[in-house]
Amino acid sequence: MDLKQYIREVPDFPKPGISFKDITTLLMDHAAFGHCTDMFAAEFREKELDKIVAIESRGFLFGAPLAHALDCGLVLARKPGKLPAATKSMSYELEYGTDSLEIHEDAIDKGDRVLVIDDLLATGGTAGAIGKLLEDFGAEVVSFAFVIELEFLNGKEKLNPHPSFSLVKY
Ligand code: AMP
Repeated sequence: MDLKQYIREVPDFPKPGISFKDITTLLMDHAAFGHCTDMFAAEFREKELDKIVAIESRGFLFGAPLAHALDCGLVLARKPGKLPAATKSMSYELEYGTDSLEIHEDAIDKGDRVLVIDDLLATGGTAGAIGKLLEDFGAEVVSFAFVIELEFLNGKEKLNPHPSFSLVKY
């Protein structure tokens, strides 16, 4: 299945020069959405994962069905102030300023085998920060997974030494 057919490209959103990859059109097609979960599940079924860490917010959409398919727990990496219990957080650079993501401090155990998932890998700043946070937890980051990878931004380099898997490349 050619997933690119289901991803809408919106030029100049959210600002001039950015070609936004809109996955809402993919989600509306049950076969295309199901295909994403099937491809991820086939890739990671034998990896003995304990947890899937999904990045707010579009990562949640792909992480939840995958956690179910692979019989592992789902952990949410959220924007500051959203998680109700005690958290650990990690900041990362944006084009202007910084942002951070949080994970409940009791959500990951030392030695957990973890997969990190998001809809899209751009510069790798977001996913790379989650990778570092998970290392602080003492987790083993087995891999990163993305529906879409913008290869020309070399985001993979920020995820080293952990491997990264993506379904569609631009
Ligand atoms: P980055 O930290 O640069 O890898 O950015 C990744 C995050 O920004 C992901 O959560 C994406 O959802 C979002 N993102 C960045 N660039 C785009 C794009 N061109 N189209 C859609 N989402 C994007």
